[in-house]
Amino acid sequence: MSGEPQADCLFCRIVAGEIPATVVRETAATLAFRDIAPQAPTHVLVVPKAHYPDAASLAEADPALAGALLAEAGRVAADEKVAESAGGTGYRLVFNTGAGAGQTVFHAHVHVLGGGDGLREKL
Ligand code: IMP
Repeated sequence: MSGEPQADCLFCRIVAGEIPATVVRETAATLAFRDIAPQAPTHVLVVPKAHYPDAASLAEADPALAGALLAEAGRVAADEKVAESAGGTGYRLVFNTGAGAGQTVFHAHVHVLGGGDGLREKL
């Protein structure tokens, strides 16, 4: 798995600036932007700029980048004030992996979900 951009990948196109997104954080290796169909008051996606089809293949190919993705998710939660350390009530990180589990975009991403009532009941 090379990490090279894929022309037919939605999140590669967002990373490239070809499709607009509401970006909330950016690093050299990651991009965080608001989900277009939010499932919670805070619903942000954090993606590696490099293309990997899912979180597990990202972690196998580049563990440091997978760690950077998680760290960015935590910074998003702090910025959005959903992290307990920022006065919020906590948040969930979700990696849908495989179509049968609900993955619809096959570029690794973590959902940062917070700010709503009942988030704890979903699992
Ligand atoms: P998945 O179901 O875990 O693969 O998550 C893909 C997410 O991408 C879904 O929550 C979609 O709402 C979201 N999404 C799809 N297209 C866009 C877009 O153009 N901008 C932002 N989020 C998107």
